[in-house]
Amino acid sequence: MSKPSSEAYWWQAAPLTTIPQRPIEPVCDVAIIGAGYTGLSAAITLARAGRSVQVFDKQRPGEGASTRNGGITSGNLRPSDATLATRFGTPAAAAILEEGKAAREDLYRFIADEEIDCDFALVGRFAGAYAPKDYDTLARSADTLQRTLGIEAYAVPRTEQRGFLGTDTYHGGNVRMDIGGIHPAKFHAGMLRVAQAAGAVIHGETAVSGVAETSAGWQITTSRGATQARDVLTCTNGYTDRSDRWLRRRLVPVRSRIIATAPLSANLMGELMPRRMMATETRQLHYYYRPSPDGTRILFGGRDGTISGDPAWPTESLRKALVSIFPVLDDVPIEHSWFGNVAMNRDMIPRIFAHGGKRYAAGYCGSGTVWARWAGLKAAQQILGDTAGASALDMRPPAAVPFFNGKPWFMPAVFAWMTAQDKLSDYQRARAH
Ligand SMILES: Cc1cc2nc3c(=O)[nH]c(=O)nc-3n(C[C@H](O)[C@H](O)[C@H](O)COP(=O)(O)OP(=O)(O)OC[C@H]3O[C@@H](n4cnc5c(N)ncnc54)[C@H](O)[C@@H]3O)c2cc1C
Repeated sequence: MSKPSSEAYWWQAAPLTTIPQRPIEPVCDVAIIGAGYTGLSAAITLARAGRSVQVFDKQRPGEGASTRNGGITSGNLRPSDATLATRFGTPAAAAILEEGKAAREDLYRFIADEEIDCDFALVGRFAGAYAPKDYDTLARSADTLQRTLGIEAYAVPRTEQRGFLGTDTYHGGNVRMDIGGIHPAKFHAGMLRVAQAAGAVIHGETAVSGVAETSAGWQITTSRGATQARDVLTCTNGYTDRSDRWLRRRLVPVRSRIIATAPLSANLMGELMPRRMMATETRQLHYYYRPSPDGTRILFGGRDGTISGDPAWPTESLRKALVSIFPVLDDVPIEHSWFGNVAMNRDMIPRIFAHGGKRYAAGYCGSGTVWARWAGLKAAQQILGDTAGASALDMRPPAAVPFFNGKPWFMPAVFAWMTAQDKLSDYQRARAH
């Protein structure tokens, strides 16, 4: 089989743009570092409120995670509802969950209001129970979503599973209809258009190397000159570099990889993904997958397990996982395989925070299509002094990760430990058959 392209499948329909370079304005109201969903969302809100805004990205805008992701509008939280309640108390936990619902709805409104052509389809998401015991948890979770948040959600017993996904891998699952899919790169291109139309100046391929406090605010030094800003908002998430060593000790960059199959026949797609739903599962090292927006390919994602280079084995490991779910795909070529960084933090909650007067929005733990845009919006409203900026994501900064200063040397060990947990699930599954 020929080697798959390492370019994101999404860049075919929405290539990354190189923005003609403009001089850096010596003074502005707000400087934003990072031109992904978070940075652009904040830029749109601030520019529309009349603030002069400059956004700096060291790569081409969107070249971080925001044009590489799976486009599943999950707005997930990693900790379980019970863990959230224990950690934050029941009212605060409920507020975070309610904000997830509001953020998802707000994203869908934003796409419609701004007429962003990003193949958005509210098709629902199936979550598969990998171990038999997971089915009860998923069924209870669907019931809770329905009761507490009014979200259309239901359990799918194993006997009905093939009506949702053409596999017997899972012991049933659940469906929630508030999650759908976007074309992530088209969505980012739409946000870029809206931000520029609002008057925000976007500087691509312009790295910020330092931020220093001055009597009038902040002096931001970049690879192409400096600017003076009253406020600074850092939105660098999984691509945070040495220019902010404090943040770098708090966000662990973890590689996530997606493979895209060659086009499949309409019949086969109809058999494997009959409802064109997004899909996930309960494994520790879980996979997430979906049909391409045109319904011809399967895009299949999971943790990559590497921390440098671009070796071939993670692609083959993902391909094997895909084939274990859909054995009929064994001979189908993989045409694209690419990775990007997500940012994990110690308590796995996305957040908006401040440190020494600088503002930050980050830590989406692999679930940023909903949270990143929302956190950027809320952070911008806070800069404007707008009470609408109050958010359940307003928290203390994430704690520093011990023995970590930017290079996630421990990730292979974490990956191995999670793989071992999944082997235990495999054993439970074997006993259940
Ligand atoms: C493979 C993959 C699959 C994913 N799938 C999903 C999914 O299906 N659903 C979901 O909800 N989420 C998913 N995510 C997560 C989601 O993509 C991210 O949470 C989201 O894009 C984060 O947006 P952001 O704007 O905060 O960060 P990014 O888009 O990563 O942008 C950060 C930017 O900061 C810039 N930067 C860093 N340092 C500097 C500096 N010193 N100077 C200037 N610029 C700097 C970088 O160049 C980068 O462009 C996935 C992520 C990956 C990688």
